[in-house]
Amino acid sequence: MFRTRFITAALGGIAALVLVGAPSATAAPQRAAVQTIYYDASQAAELSSQVDEAAEIWNTRVTNVKLVKGQAGITVTTAQNGSAPGTASCVGCTRGQIYFYRNQIKSSGAAPLRVIVHEFGHILSLEHPPDIGNCDKVMAGGRCDNPYPNADERAAVDRFWGRGQPPAKPGPDHADENEVLRAPALAGR
Ligand SMILES: [Zn+2]
Repeated sequence: MFRTRFITAALGGIAALVLVGAPSATAAPQRAAVQTIYYDASQAAELSSQVDEAAEIWNTRVTNVKLVKGQAGITVTTAQNGSAPGTASCVGCTRGQIYFYRNQIKSSGAAPLRVIVHEFGHILSLEHPPDIGNCDKVMAGGRCDNPYPNADERAAVDRFWGRGQPPAKPGPDHADENEVLRAPALAGR
């Protein structure tokens, strides 16, 4: 009995020593490099300066990913008529397409810059929140003017790109996107 207990204690001591001596896997977490997403606004027509402005809004508010003018990334096109004020072909992606439809933006009542920041938000990994029409969140759509992502949205983008390059997802369904972007603004916002 005594002997068994002694051995158990001794083994426990050895285990503790091994644990203490083991190199720590959690020391100094590796910081992923800042991800670059190129965007080409040469087909964005009259919205091209607002496309640059929207990229700047994100660039000055997140740190793990940067939107940079260039080729072979996200192409941004403005056309006359389409399925929604704006669409993004993918979520959390470095290659894809954004489309804006000027007639739909106009009829939606949403501020064009907000719509553009919203579509970049999808590219940057964000999806729609449950409180559609909350003007405080650019991803909530709605007939709002605010083009600035809130703190939670900014943090979510940094979390996503801080993990390296997670797999992209398909962009939102065009009918959903249309509904979200022209939803009434929530009262009191
Ligand atoms: Zn959307």
